Amino acid sequence: MNPSTSRTQRGSAFLIEDLDPQRIFVPEDFSDDQKMMADSTTEFVDREVWPQKHRFEAHDYDFTFDLMRKAGEMGLLGIYVPEAYGGLGMGFNTSMLVCDRISGASGSLSTAYGAHTGIGILPVLLYGNEEQKAYYLPKLASGEWIGAYCLTEPGAGSDANSGKTRAVPSSDGSSYSITGQKMWISNAGYAQLFIVFAKIEDDKNLTAFLVERDNPGLSLGEEEHKMGIRASSTRQVFFTDCVVRADRMLGERNGGFKIAMNALNVGRIKLAAACLDANRRILRASAEYAQQRHQFGQPIAQFGAIQQKLATMAMLHFASESATYRAGQDIENTIGALEASGMDPQQAKLKGVEEFAVECALLKVHASEAGSWIVDQGVQIYGGMGYSADAPMDSAYRDMRIARIYEGTNEINRMLSVGMLLKKALKGELELMGPAMKVGAELLELPSFDGPDPEELLSEERESLAQLKKAFLMVAGKAVEQFGPGIEEEQEILMAASDVLIQIYVFESVLGRALKLAAAKGTQAAAQEIDLARLYRYEAVEVAQRSAREAISSFADGDVQRMLLMGLKRFTKIRTLHNLKELRRRVAQRVLAGVA
Ligand SMILES: Cc1cc2nc3c(=O)[nH]c(=O)nc-3n(C[C@H](O)[C@H](O)[C@H](O)COP(=O)(O)OP(=O)(O)OC[C@H]3O[C@@H](n4cnc5c(N)ncnc54)[C@H](O)[C@@H]3O)c2cc1C
Repeated sequence: MNPSTSRTQRGSAFLIEDLDPQRIFVPEDFSDDQKMMADSTTEFVDREVWPQKHRFEAHDYDFTFDLMRKAGEMGLLGIYVPEAYGGLGMGFNTSMLVCDRISGASGSLSTAYGAHTGIGILPVLLYGNEEQKAYYLPKLASGEWIGAYCLTEPGAGSDANSGKTRAVPSSDGSSYSITGQKMWISNAGYAQLFIVFAKIEDDKNLTAFLVERDNPGLSLGEEEHKMGIRASSTRQVFFTDCVVRADRMLGERNGGFKIAMNALNVGRIKLAAACLDANRRILRASAEYAQQRHQFGQPIAQFGAIQQKLATMAMLHFASESATYRAGQDIENTIGALEASGMDPQQAKLKGVEEFAVECALLKVHASEAGSWIVDQGVQIYGGMGYSADAPMDSAYRDMRIARIYEGTNEINRMLSVGMLLKKALKGELELMGPAMKVGAELLELPSFDGPDPEELLSEERESLAQLKKAFLMVAGKAVEQFGPGIEEEQEILMAASDVLIQIYVFESVLGRALKLAAAKGTQAAAQEIDLARLYRYEAVEVAQRSAREAISSFADGDVQRMLLMGLKRFTKIRTLHNLKELRRRVAQRVLAGVA
């Protein structure tokens, strides 16, 4: 298989279109060249990073900086930067693959890499003019310079557009003088380029500026002492009448908030990728430990309680991985199609990611929460050793925690995902009304007693997926009907709706991968993926059921509530309950065999 076997779906269309496994990109589709790139990144991490992991815990910022330089020498910082600007000019999904593999050993390096290649380089790549790109990108791609992204302020975190940092134009218009304070800035200690968001006069929105480290008026606070990612440099950055040439404005005046948000879209999906190798390593270490550790005369790996954990860890990792690379390839294909239609490559890159902003937000939430759960269970499998600062779970546990906070907190991303989806529908970019009305009409009919074809692989799971889409349309449709634009204020409902949406996207990605692999290599060879899809269906249905019920209870009563609950029951019905114990044991035993 290769990427050309996956066809692109429009952003958010997963909600209203039927699953077509052949359309979904799966990690097994990566070409040999892409796999080689991933392998050489893993080799770099295993050789240069893993044996010296303890240095991160000792706040050795120089170690992180050296690694970034080495990554730059290997071309890993410029994967996505066009060759004309000193990069390797590879596709979006290859850049995701490298981000995945470089991030596994430590959250410190992962954060430095993510901040540099994501929110550091991308604003320049996507919004820079020719002179800015030619000047900055080669330095950033090679690692000669490290980038930092300065949006957050002490009083402006989630409400990022409310920052107080000001840029005052000089009387002759040749420069701006920036004054303000930025907080929590990753890479600040060793960055040469700071992308700074500030307001000019009484502008409604922010404007972005490219500020260099030796600009007079720029100074740094001390390193923050953090719970985890201890060797990722995080400092405050102060600007005191910091003069920046006018030609260092990035994009347009008032256009900074858009730049900040578009950079974050990429940051979010990259953060999902960045959780993957950590999950892989945690799962592998847990499986190895469970085989070595004996209690009651046998390896703990033989206990059902441990196998249950390993199976769920494997399932969540498989789910995050499937959904992340599916969206990554859809973005890459969309960019390719826009370029082929004649769009300027810079604009195409921007539009390609924007199209999948909903998926980027969903993935960020899912991957960071799956990662948190996986590492928590890793600690548990290690028992007392899991709590030891000398065992690998300690730093992994603390490092993973930040993923739910930065690149927009998970609360913000949850609300954003549903908000953006509804806006798309309002603008006519996504036809939600028709499908929602169809679901409403279906509720008034008697339920069909025809089941899916039992001979068809994963047919009940396919049916469940289609039904969950109806459940979302039913609940969200009714809530929008009730609240109108006021739905924005109904945070609990938005959060619950987002949970259903996440499950739909992720479940579809899992199911699509299992079906595509089964078609390509046969059901026996795809036995693990098929079992993971079976298992994930229970997760998806359960979360969706709980969240949808929560939403319904928050806005509907009387007959409407009864009708919605009846619909929910219909749409979350499980026809045949698998033996979950056996299913999980099979999955866990294959995981254990893989590390034996
Ligand atoms: C280690 C680290 C590295 C970082 N790196 C960078 C960086 O490189 N560049 C940068 O600009 N920033 C960076 N940040 C900042 C980060 O993006 C913010 O911390 C994050 O966006 C949350 O903002 P806040 O901390 O001000 O929390 P707040 O916005 O104060 O949020 C506190 C709580 O309230 C919730 N909340 C806030 N608003 C709402 C709302 N409207 N509705 C419901 N709930 C809400 C949040 O979800 C959260 O649970 C970093 C932070 C950390 C800790």
